[in-house]
Amino acid sequence: MGSDPTRRTFLRNSTVTAAALTSLASTRPAGAAAADSPEAVPYVCVTCGSQFTESSKPPDRCPVCEDERQYVNPDGQEWQTLEQIQATHKNTIKQEEEHLYSINTVPKYSIGQRAFLIQTPQGNVLWDCVSLIDDATIARIKELGGIAEIAISHPHYYTTMVEWSRAFGNVPVHIHEAERPWVMRPDPCIRFWKGETLKLRGGLDLVRTGGHFEGYQVLHWPAGAGGLGALMAGDQPQICMDPKQVSFMYSYPNFIPLNAPAIRHVVECLEPLAYDRIYGAFVVRGKGIIPTGGKEVVRRSADRYLKAIQS
Ligand SMILES: [Zn+2]
Ligand SMILES: [Zn+2]
Repeated sequence: MGSDPTRRTFLRNSTVTAAALTSLASTRPAGAAAADSPEAVPYVCVTCGSQFTESSKPPDRCPVCEDERQYVNPDGQEWQTLEQIQATHKNTIKQEEEHLYSINTVPKYSIGQRAFLIQTPQGNVLWDCVSLIDDATIARIKELGGIAEIAISHPHYYTTMVEWSRAFGNVPVHIHEAERPWVMRPDPCIRFWKGETLKLRGGLDLVRTGGHFEGYQVLHWPAGAGGLGALMAGDQPQICMDPKQVSFMYSYPNFIPLNAPAIRHVVECLEPLAYDRIYGAFVVRGKGIIPTGGKEVVRRSADRYLKAIQS
């Protein structure tokens, strides 16, 4: 966001040069000339939305999609630049309740999740992330107070987190240490944390539940739902078509269930939290919210699930 064009150009060229050198080291035969190397860009995987470290040609593969919790597009791996996504998509920002806004990409992009902006007196927190970020999104979020911290439930939503951090002043992105291997674009803005809970600003807490991913984390927002508390769940517990039920899966696209000890552990981690409402990642199935009684829904749904897989 600097105003000195010389410095901007220098920084940009430095980044490109560093990325080009990395790319040369890994892909070019010895003695190949650098002069004809195309500009390195951070490509985005179309299927999962993950953005990768800059490269002069699209990456060969996407480890996030090759994992059994995702899938490689059967028609072939596809890549786009952020500029290409910006040309065909936009974000809509919708108020969900006081101090909470959802960020939704239309038409649907990659997995189709939404992100949330939570306003607190100590600054705003972005929960989860989407691949598309553009000038209109940045301007609207700045009107709402900007972003001071970012936290993302699990690797399926890491998307363009580095772009989001940079757009708001290199703000920290909190990710659990266990998910380090799934970060496709390492950057100093990413803060890996260890342990079971992490306090964020405004009374928010990250709670590591494991399950869908080893370092899966939910965000507890005690001031949400009019002070009764809200659980920002992402993919887990997953809100079902029936908003009186949630589910727990190792892989959602491939219908691989979570085992009983993992489900019990998720429920045990959520039990101490005071919450009434649950916000999920999706509105493409159902409404993506359990407006009230969320804690009881989680208990009941977990019991039902455990009976189903243990009988
Ligand atoms: Zn992918
Ligand atoms: Zn997921």
